[in-house]
Amino acid sequence: MSYSYLSHLECPQCGEHYSAEVVRQLCTCGSPLLVRYDLERLKTEWVKEELSNRNPDLWRYHELLPVVEKEHVVTLGEGMTPLLALPRLGEDYGISTLLMKDESLVPSGSFKARGAAVGVSKAKELGVTGLAMPTNGNAGAAWALYSARAGIEATIVMPQDAPKITRSEVALAGAKLYLVNGLISDAGAIVAREVADKGLYDASTLKEPYRIEGKKTMGLEIAEQLGWEMPDVILYPTGGGVGLIGIYKALQELQELGWVQGPLPRLVAVQADGCAPIVKAWEEKAERSQFWPDSVTAAFGINVPKALGDFLVLKAVYETDGVAIAVSDAEMSTEQEKIARLEGSFICPEGAAAFAAARKLAQSGWIQPEDRVVVLNTGAGIKYPDSVQTDPPLLEIGEFI
Ligand SMILES: *Cc1c(COP(=O)(O)O)cnc(C)c1O
Ligand SMILES: [Zn+2]
Repeated sequence: MSYSYLSHLECPQCGEHYSAEVVRQLCTCGSPLLVRYDLERLKTEWVKEELSNRNPDLWRYHELLPVVEKEHVVTLGEGMTPLLALPRLGEDYGISTLLMKDESLVPSGSFKARGAAVGVSKAKELGVTGLAMPTNGNAGAAWALYSARAGIEATIVMPQDAPKITRSEVALAGAKLYLVNGLISDAGAIVAREVADKGLYDASTLKEPYRIEGKKTMGLEIAEQLGWEMPDVILYPTGGGVGLIGIYKALQELQELGWVQGPLPRLVAVQADGCAPIVKAWEEKAERSQFWPDSVTAAFGINVPKALGDFLVLKAVYETDGVAIAVSDAEMSTEQEKIARLEGSFICPEGAAAFAAARKLAQSGWIQPEDRVVVLNTGAGIKYPDSVQTDPPLLEIGEFI
């Protein structure tokens, strides 16, 4: 038994293979690289019953993760989040089995901690001492915190409008923090220059192959939590799309291992109507998206005007007979309130977008009442205190209701 069954890196665009023993960013053809494992060997050496004795975190799947030596694991206990039944909301949508994979409980309050845990651990294993990345907030926060724990120096560039709490997380962790008067794409251009000038590791979305591996554990967990049965539909708030690509990859790997059977769930990429390049491409049956100018949405994590991995997101949606759908910011806030009132959960605007999409798809009949539906809540609502406006009455001392 090996700790990891890591085999090599593969380009999903041109098919080129690379060694996973040295730092690699993109393929020479410009595509992101995917991590491949020796699934044939793993199939004969690993049984799912072994998982029952393991810790409830994402490292329980270490055979399917890229960190080769256990001592290189940098963890804050991320993973194995609840898969919560939402019966009252399900009734409201007319769906009998509505489940929320609740990522608000991971360290740093968003699922970005999964990508950071695996990405930073692998960077450390490869001998990286300094990294840089653009972010809409949550990824930068997670990577700054995990980098601090790993002893790696992080440089983070985020839009001025990114959620303020994420600035605090980055600064407190001792990373170098820069704001840009622009979007994540503008932050990306700054990072690219800094990486070239200083020889840093580029931890931008999909420019290193390992973040996907952390995010794919959401798919592994969903399968395990459902007793190795697949749901019918999974809805995911899509920015860079790493989570969706990761979930798709995880389920395919489980299929190859023979741990799950049957058709894969229909994957739904949800975007905001103020930034919906993937939805537009899907409607046009295109293979790639086009840059979405002047993008705007309160769901900051999905404000990505052009994703490097757009073709992988679209492929996952096409191949599973899924859809891509946009919702408005108003629909998100209505849904956010609805979920708090019916189910007691304060979810993030991105998660609320995915729920609003589930409502629409149930209304249109694309989701059937008997479908088993999993919606990803990618982060904690409390990271976005400004997403809710309140005006409670103020009582003076001695004044009563
Ligand atoms: C980053 C982010 C997303 C989008 O994630 P991708 O996998 O890059 O598409 C969704 N929700 C939240 C809260 C995020 O921070
Ligand atoms: Zn290639």
